[in-house]
Amino acid sequence: MTMPAYVKASAAVHAAAGIAVLVAPAAWPWALGAVAANHLALTGAGLWPRSRWLGRNWTRLPEAAAARGEIAITIDDGPDPEVTPRVLDLLDAHAARATFFAIASAAARHPALCREIVRRGHSVQNHSDRHSHAFSLLGPRGLAREIGAAQARLADVAGVAPRYFRAPAGLRNPFLAPVLDRLGLQLVSWTRRGYDTVRRDPDDVLARLCKGLAAGDILLLHDGNAARTPAGQPVVLSVLPALLGRCADAGLRPVTLTDALPAPGSVPGDAWAAASS
Ligand SMILES: [Zn+2]
Repeated sequence: MTMPAYVKASAAVHAAAGIAVLVAPAAWPWALGAVAANHLALTGAGLWPRSRWLGRNWTRLPEAAAARGEIAITIDDGPDPEVTPRVLDLLDAHAARATFFAIASAAARHPALCREIVRRGHSVQNHSDRHSHAFSLLGPRGLAREIGAAQARLADVAGVAPRYFRAPAGLRNPFLAPVLDRLGLQLVSWTRRGYDTVRRDPDDVLARLCKGLAAGDILLLHDGNAARTPAGQPVVLSVLPALLGRCADAGLRPVTLTDALPAPGSVPGDAWAAASS
């Protein structure tokens, strides 16, 4: 993939500002202002997890999956030795499949749990190596190291190389898209999230996830870093049974991202383009 158009346009702003200063040095305050405004816009796009301005970003399943009544439940920040096994049991009880965006260093600490996720028919995908809060401040090399290390570790532990990547907290910068492209990874964010790392009320989290619940949705929950209910229960464990019940009532089938999608590049003019447009 080449650079996203928005990033190319930003490079053009920088070049134009440079030329303006060379041709008319007195124009420097304007040139500087244009570059500063452009940086603010790029940062803004990176802070908005569902934006597509920094490259292809998946926020819904493709039409074909939606037409089959599929939705994707994605569960981030694990595996967690206390929470994840209980999440797996809840999913099994509802014959549901989910996608786990795992932190690779955590997966390496709990390899058996990671393999159990796969054994039960779910999918393990790349959510970076260490889930650093400074992730979106990394340059091209730092991003390649962080995401590449995670890719190698997860492939080793889970036995399958991830195809999808989700940025820590959904925060990105303009260097991310080319790095993902080189590693053969597709960025996936979400249609809705429940804020279940901070919200302690399961009803509130459930209401956020179910607002306008429809086929093709990608929902975000957490098995790692889970907030606790006032009774001390990880929020995801209270929310999941109700959410899976709502899905069943609405005739929606929770599937993994891998099952919902054709492999990237495998279908000419494919569902990827439709989902990313
Ligand atoms: Zn995360």
